[in-house]
Amino acid sequence: MNLPRIDIDSAKIAHNVQQLTTLYGTKGIKIIGVTKVIGGDPVIAGMMVKNGIKTLADSRLENIQRMRKAGIRAQFMLLKSPALSQAEEVITHTHISLNSELIVLKELSKCALKNHSIHKVILMVELGDLREGIMPSEMENMVRDVISLKGIVLIGIGTNLACLGGIAPDSDNMAELSSIAGHLENKFNISLDIVSGGSSANYRWFRSSKDVDRINSLRLGESIFLGRETLCREPIPGLFTDIFTLVAEVIEAKQKPSQPYGKVYQNMNGKILHFKDHGLMNRAILGIGLQDVVVSGIVPKQNVTILGASSDHIVVDNNKANLEVGDTVTFDLNYNALLRGLNSPYITKNHVNYQECKEVL
Ligand SMILES: *Cc1c(COP(=O)(O)O)cnc(C)c1O
Repeated sequence: MNLPRIDIDSAKIAHNVQQLTTLYGTKGIKIIGVTKVIGGDPVIAGMMVKNGIKTLADSRLENIQRMRKAGIRAQFMLLKSPALSQAEEVITHTHISLNSELIVLKELSKCALKNHSIHKVILMVELGDLREGIMPSEMENMVRDVISLKGIVLIGIGTNLACLGGIAPDSDNMAELSSIAGHLENKFNISLDIVSGGSSANYRWFRSSKDVDRINSLRLGESIFLGRETLCREPIPGLFTDIFTLVAEVIEAKQKPSQPYGKVYQNMNGKILHFKDHGLMNRAILGIGLQDVVVSGIVPKQNVTILGASSDHIVVDNNKANLEVGDTVTFDLNYNALLRGLNSPYITKNHVNYQECKEVL
């Protein structure tokens, strides 16, 4: 098997999907499976659908097309606000999109009419994190305009927190979202089927709330794939946190000094670094680098520590592990490392325990 590679345990993904579906289901919340970290990998997407997920959401149209071409049967949602220039493709390739700009919604409406289709839209409400969203005071005007547009149908509202600003979903902002939903329904005599309260960051709020009021949908990525909530990155009880394993190969192993020698200038990353002198040490080079993963987001499972990385190499302290050329080193990955790794053409994706989901495709 080509190296570097990422091993992906499909059976563990199935388990996490089932557990999260049951957990959130206890208070009436349906989960939408977010596939951006897996680049729309059809094997994994198929596994998610087989285990009860009805809607798959991705930030990239390319990933959605990949899943649709592979025959994955689900409702497809575009997570990232559509660009004005993308409207036609959004209509062609997705069923639902999350929106915050009237000019884009008008374009979606025009394209849907041309395409003789109906596109579902969710309006995103700004609740403090300051990425996408309509200010609450503007919601009424926006809804008035949107419900007059043909070809698109308003199916709900949503919000996105814990992203840019790291603002926690809590009882205040979730109550505000519920109350906005109720207000809009009364005012315009409409019904909003989806009130999408957020992401993997909503776990703590969910656990501490007796009543989740109108919130009936969450868009989950990281808790499915890494088994964690995302406010403190704590594991969610009962979930697997080790679904993905990065494997890299040792391409050089030698005893060398611990301190570079010669005149010190900028290194390849533009930094002037100073290394302490610990005398001679065992160093190993792994055939993987910054092009492949976010090096700060990987943690070795063996007893080695990362000394530095360049575009194609990671150098590790090999004093304790005594790795030899041809040996492999395995790593856990955080979400960012996974995002880059799974979307890198240089890394082989290796599905393990995948028997059960073959029949899906
Ligand atoms: C990525 C994304 C999510 C999923 O976030 P996780 O922390 O992985 O659960 C939800 N909503 C939007 C808009 C996103 O872009």
